[in-house]
Amino acid sequence: MFTEKSKGSSTPLMWVENNHFNKIYIKRDDLFPFSFGGNKARKAYNFFKKFDEGCFDTVVTYGSSSSNHCRVISNMASARNVSCYIISPEEASEPTYNSKMMELFEAEITTVPVSEVSCTIEKKLTELKNKGKKPYFIAGGGHGNLGTKAYVDCYREIVEYELSNGIHFDYIFFASGTGTTQAGLVCGQLIHGDDRKIVGISIARKNPRGRQVVIDSISDYLVENKYNIPDAVINDLTIFLDDYTGDGYAKENEKIIDTINIMLKKYGIPMDSTYTAKAYSGMLSYIDENNIKDKNILFIHTGGTPLFFDDLRRMK
Ligand SMILES: *Cc1c(COP(=O)(O)O)cnc(C)c1O
Repeated sequence: MFTEKSKGSSTPLMWVENNHFNKIYIKRDDLFPFSFGGNKARKAYNFFKKFDEGCFDTVVTYGSSSSNHCRVISNMASARNVSCYIISPEEASEPTYNSKMMELFEAEITTVPVSEVSCTIEKKLTELKNKGKKPYFIAGGGHGNLGTKAYVDCYREIVEYELSNGIHFDYIFFASGTGTTQAGLVCGQLIHGDDRKIVGISIARKNPRGRQVVIDSISDYLVENKYNIPDAVINDLTIFLDDYTGDGYAKENEKIIDTINIMLKKYGIPMDSTYTAKAYSGMLSYIDENNIKDKNILFIHTGGTPLFFDDLRRMK
């Protein structure tokens, strides 16, 4: 099987629509070529590169039953024929297409109250080590510097697209959750020294915590890679909007359902109510509210296609 993206390969970037004299483009990270793509697949490549380099033989991670991360990680584990252990909070454990796939990939799922997730992870790691196993632990959502690096690389793909197409994106929007995607993009911007606004639309977390987690991830990555950038600069570049979270994770409102409908009917692009449609409709509201005009705007489609089918089942 292929273990690494071929050099220079990049997800498609396409123009979709004009809105308030702005041109909106979408980078299709949902088409990243493994397990229904998305940002979790892009991040997982880096984690499994480390896995393959080390002498590990099992994978441990955590996430809910709807987790795109857990689906991708268990798929990459099944592709290597290694065991995958997932610790899952019982508060978010209803069956989804993602959880059905985790079962198909034969992940061993332990469901516990959310307050017991971290101690259960510790227990599982100890238990595996005592059995002579070499478990590789991956943080939920692909959080950490390897996940951040995946979006530094994505940022480079965007810059390459700009150079070869003679375009400059004034804004980059996307769904922001644990913040690794955003951290990678902001680090990319800092490294390239580009002038533009990178706007994370929070899908659940509220400020100030949501924004602080992004800032911490940025600092961690810059320190590890020996960049010396003042906190004030990082602060200025980190835009994390918590105005469009709706009722938080996995809850939808009419605007979000409309966005799912329109994007599929008009452009053939699947979106979901937890992440991408929430962020896209949040972006359109932000453009409206801030009277943004005559700009080139890039939306990164971060994936989650299986969640589209969960939404489809609920839609009339
Ligand atoms: C996890 C996820 C996000 C959020 O990514 P973070 O790096 O955690 O901020 C956005 N979109 C989709 C589809 C996701 O699965």
